[in-house]
Amino acid sequence: MYNAKAYSAASATSPLASTTIPRRDTAEHDVEIEILFCGICHSDLHTVRDEWHSIMPTVYPCVPGHEIVGRVTKVGPAVTKFKQGDLAGVGCLVDSDHTCPNCQDGLEQLCPNQTLTFNSPDKHGTGPVTYGGYSDSIVVDERFVLRVPANLNLAGVAPLLCAGITTYSPIRRWGDLTGKKVGVVGLGGLGHMGVKFARAFGARVVVFTTSENKKEDALRLGADEVIISRNADEMQQHAGSFDFILDTIAADHDINAYINMLGRDGNITLVGAPEKPLAVSAFALLFGRRSLSGSIIGGIAETQEMLDFCGDHNITADVEVIPIQKVNEAYERLVKSDVKYRFSIDMSSLKSA
Ligand code: NAP
Ligand code: ZN
Repeated sequence: MYNAKAYSAASATSPLASTTIPRRDTAEHDVEIEILFCGICHSDLHTVRDEWHSIMPTVYPCVPGHEIVGRVTKVGPAVTKFKQGDLAGVGCLVDSDHTCPNCQDGLEQLCPNQTLTFNSPDKHGTGPVTYGGYSDSIVVDERFVLRVPANLNLAGVAPLLCAGITTYSPIRRWGDLTGKKVGVVGLGGLGHMGVKFARAFGARVVVFTTSENKKEDALRLGADEVIISRNADEMQQHAGSFDFILDTIAADHDINAYINMLGRDGNITLVGAPEKPLAVSAFALLFGRRSLSGSIIGGIAETQEMLDFCGDHNITADVEVIPIQKVNEAYERLVKSDVKYRFSIDMSSLKSA
């Protein structure tokens, strides 16, 4: 074991603060990575503040971060995919059982025995739970390490590892979007990636936002139209007209307002994970034979496909790069939807922490 520098929260109400954490030595199939950038996902904040207590209680100290990009510093003797000096990415998963039907289908994100990058029981016993990417290094089984295209800006690549795959996966799964009317609800970290991908796959993209000041950005990011969701007239004009809607809202909201936007057999997929259950009107689903579903990140092969797609199409997240010392301020701004459109922590700042 060795000590890594990190930022952790000691309780649901404590700010994140500088600390050291144990990391395991590089075993046979392991890759040790110097972390260069880590994105701040709203899931980091939900977990640090124990907002998902009833589903996944947080174990403290908590080191969040699952949008990791860095450089390989060491590899185990059996590693074949990476060598020292390579770029590497790590997302929300660091292990799964490899034997269940979901793993066999390349859907590690649905494995019942998966290990999340942070706040999951640590099979290696390095700590009580896994510690995430707000750290200067991490050691991960090579099967969960992604290759990073060399042509992209690394600060903007980090968020692809969660926000990217979480929006890419349901958009790909929906099918051929050419000419279809697609809604993206919430223009945050996930939402702005959803707009980029839906546009790249040929959809007519409409953004629903509560933030009037994001309108111009939404158009620049690839939206054809922007609806201010609290404007009832604007909403009414689009009722019953969408093929597919991706809902990325992180807080409680009236989902029926968006279900009613769908046309016949339209689907709304939830990727946002608000703390409290949403109230769904049966009638909103029945009329129009509409469906509501959910989606969680993506499998490892699909995450690699997404990164390669981003390399080919020059797609990265729009980021505000911050030093780790600004992380608590960043969380306050994230709650207020005040980020364009993802914070990416420059981990070299940990050296002076
Ligand atoms: P984010 O950057 O905070 O974006 C969420 C956006 O939702 C905000 O920018 C805002 O957009 C909108 N919003 C926030 N509060 C709202 C409210 N009260 N009513 C209406 N709209 C509101 O968060 P994120 O990192 O994109 O994550 C979004 C959600 O997805 C979180 O719950 C996160 O935990 C979850 N998540 C799920 C997965 C998965 O695999 N399913 C993966 C990652 C994250 P506007 O300003 O445009 O209104
Ligand atoms: Zn995330």
